[in-house]
Amino acid sequence: MKSIIIPYGRQDITEEDIQAVIHTLKSDYLTQGPKIAEFEHAFAEYVGAKYAVAVSNGTAALHLCTLALDVKEGDKVITTPITFAASANCVRYCGGEVVFGDIDPTTYLLDIHSVRVLLESSPKGTYKGIIPVDFAGRAIDLEAFKTLANEYGLWIIEDACHAPGGYFIDSKGGRQTCGNGINADLAIFSFHPVKHIASGEGGMITTNDRHLYDKLLQLRTHGIVKSEDAYTNNIEFAGGINSYPGWYMEMQMLGYNYRLTDFQAALGISQLKRAEDGLEKRKAIAAVYFEAFDGKEFIKGQSAVVDGHAYHLYILEVENRLGLYNYLKEQNIFAQIHYIPCHLMPYYRERGWEEGDRLFAETFYKHCISLPMYPTLTREEQQFVIDKILTFYND
Ligand SMILES: *Cc1c(COP(=O)(O)O)cnc(C)c1O
Repeated sequence: MKSIIIPYGRQDITEEDIQAVIHTLKSDYLTQGPKIAEFEHAFAEYVGAKYAVAVSNGTAALHLCTLALDVKEGDKVITTPITFAASANCVRYCGGEVVFGDIDPTTYLLDIHSVRVLLESSPKGTYKGIIPVDFAGRAIDLEAFKTLANEYGLWIIEDACHAPGGYFIDSKGGRQTCGNGINADLAIFSFHPVKHIASGEGGMITTNDRHLYDKLLQLRTHGIVKSEDAYTNNIEFAGGINSYPGWYMEMQMLGYNYRLTDFQAALGISQLKRAEDGLEKRKAIAAVYFEAFDGKEFIKGQSAVVDGHAYHLYILEVENRLGLYNYLKEQNIFAQIHYIPCHLMPYYRERGWEEGDRLFAETFYKHCISLPMYPTLTREEQQFVIDKILTFYND
C-alpha cells in the first residue's frame, strides 16, 4: 500500500480512449477536421447548451470570452479570489481591472452579497461583468447572479471548469446544468487531466447566444472569416469577376490560434461517454469522506453533500493543515491546496490588493486541503487516506 502514490486528482484513460486517438491519428485530419464539430455537438448536448466551441485549453476559452464580450482597458469585472488564477487573468489580457468579491464561508463560492456591496458602492456602469466559478464542482446559484447582473446591465461568464455535469435547482424547482447557457452569457470548461474530462490540454465554451458563438468561432482562428456574405473588400479587389474566388478569405478582427486538435477531440469524445459514470464515482467517494469526517473535532468544515455537486475537489478545513499536508505526503498521499487567494498573488498585490481585503477567502486558505478525488480511486485507497488522517489527529 505504501509504495503507491495517491495524487489529489488524475485522469482515467481506457483502451477505448487509446483506440479513439489512434484512429484519428490514422485519419486525414490531425486538426481542423470532423472530430472538432463532433466533440462540440456531444458536449453541447451533455450540458444542455445550444452551441459549443472547442479550444486549446480552459485559459484560452476564458480569453476568447472576454474578447467576445469586448472587455476593454479599465473595464471592471468581479470574480472570486478562491479560484485558479486564469478566472481573473482573462480580464487582464484585455486590459480590464479585476475586482475580487469574497466567498461564502459555508459553500466556498463567490458570495453574492459581497458582489452586491461592490456594485452598490460604485456608480452604475462601473462594472461590466461577473465571472462566478463552480468551485470544487459545486454549482453556483446562477439564477440569483443573473437577476443581479440584469439589474446592473452586466454579462456573466460561468467558469465551470470544475463542474461538467453539475447542476443547481432554481427557484422553480428546475435543474440548471452548469454551462447550459440559461443564466450566463458564456460558460467555459477545461480538459486538463485533473479535470473530469481529459484531452491532454483542451477547453470548451458553451453559449445559447448565436452572435457570441459566431464571434468566438472567428476569434479562435485568427479573426478570419470565409463566407461571401461577411466580406467587406469588394469582388474586384479579391480577384474575382462575378463572385469571390475560391481561395478568398478575410481577417476582420484580431484573433488567435486557439484551436484544439482532432486527436485531442477524439479523446474528449471518448472520455465524455464515461462522464456520467465518473460523476457517480466522485459522488460515492464524497459520501464516504463526508461520513468519515462529519462531527470530528479537528474538522472546521468540509465539502457538503448536496445534489448537483460535481466533486472536482473534496475539501476539508482543518487545524494544523501544514502538519497534515506533510504527514500525508510522507505516506505518498499528495493532497493539494485550492487555492492560494488570487488577490494575494504577487501580481495582484502589485495592483493594490492587500492582506485583510477578503477575510473569508483568507481564513479559508489557512485551513483548506483537497483530498484525493478521482473516479479510479479505489475504496481501499480511500480508506487508507481516511485512516492516515484519523491517525494524524489521534482520532
Ligand atoms: C483548470 C482551470 C482553468 C484553466 O484551464 P486550463 O485548461 O488549465 O487552461 C480555469 N479556471 C478554473 C477554475 C480551473 O480549474
